[in-house]
Amino acid sequence: MRYFGTFSLFIFLAVMIHGCSSDDSATPSDPNAENNRPLGTSAADILSQNNYSALTIELVYTNSFRPEPSSILGFKSFVQSLVNKPGGVQYIERVIPDQAGAPFSIEEIRAIEDANRSVFTQGDNLAVYVFFSNGASENDTNNSVTLGTAYRNTSIVIYQKTLEFITQTDPEVLPILEQTTLNHEMGHLMGLVNIQNDDIHQVHEDPDSDKHCVHEDCLMYYDATGVGRQMLEKWTQLRAVPQLEIQCLQDLQAKGAL
Ligand SMILES: [Zn+2]
Ligand SMILES: [Zn+2]
Repeated sequence: MRYFGTFSLFIFLAVMIHGCSSDDSATPSDPNAENNRPLGTSAADILSQNNYSALTIELVYTNSFRPEPSSILGFKSFVQSLVNKPGGVQYIERVIPDQAGAPFSIEEIRAIEDANRSVFTQGDNLAVYVFFSNGASENDTNNSVTLGTAYRNTSIVIYQKTLEFITQTDPEVLPILEQTTLNHEMGHLMGLVNIQNDDIHQVHEDPDSDKHCVHEDCLMYYDATGVGRQMLEKWTQLRAVPQLEIQCLQDLQAKGAL
C-alpha cells in the first residue's frame, strides 16, 4: 500500500510532466506510446470491443521460475469470461534468460519490459504483457512481500520466485495463489478498484486499502503489494481463487465487459 501511494504520486508527476511538455513538437514520438500509459487508462479498451476487437496477452518467464500450467489455464478462463473481443484472445508464451540484478525495483521491472516485451498494441489488437519474475521485489522486508504489481496500462509483473518461496511448505497452494495474483493484477488493468476514479460503484473502494475492494471475499480485496504476515496468512489459506463480487463485476460491465 505504501508503495502504491508512491506509485500514484509517480503517475501524477508523470501526467503533470507530460501535460507540461505536450506542445513540445521536438520530442520524438514513442512507437509504443499506447502501451506506456498510466494504470487503468486502457480499462475500457481491454474490456469492450469498441476500439480493439482483439486482445493478445504475452506471458514472459524464465526457465527457473515458470508459472504453473493450471494457473495459466485458470487465468485464461477468467479473461475469457470478461472481455468482449469478437476477434478473440491470443496468448503468446516466451522464455527469456534469468534477469540479473534481483531484487528488482519497479524501474528495473520497467527496464526488463522495455528490453524483452515483443507484442505491442497495433491496429485493432490490444496487447498486454505479463512478466513472471525470477527475482523478488526490492520493497520486500522481513515482514512483508509483494506478489504482483500492475504498473502500466498494459503491464503486469508477477513475483514468481516469491510465490514459490512462500508456498514451499504447502505447494498445493501455489497455483491458487499464483492465479489469484494474476487475476487480481489483471483486475487492476481493467480499472479496479476505481483506479481512474470513474467506477460506477465508488462506495466499495476500501478506505483502508487504496484502489482495492472492501468486500473480503472479492478478488480485488487481496492487495498483492506489501503483504504483511496477517494478510499473508489469509492468502496462504485460500483454497480457491476468489471471484469478483457483484460491485466489481458491475464496474467492469459498465466499461464494456461481458
Ligand atoms: Zn492490488
Ligand atoms: Zn470487489
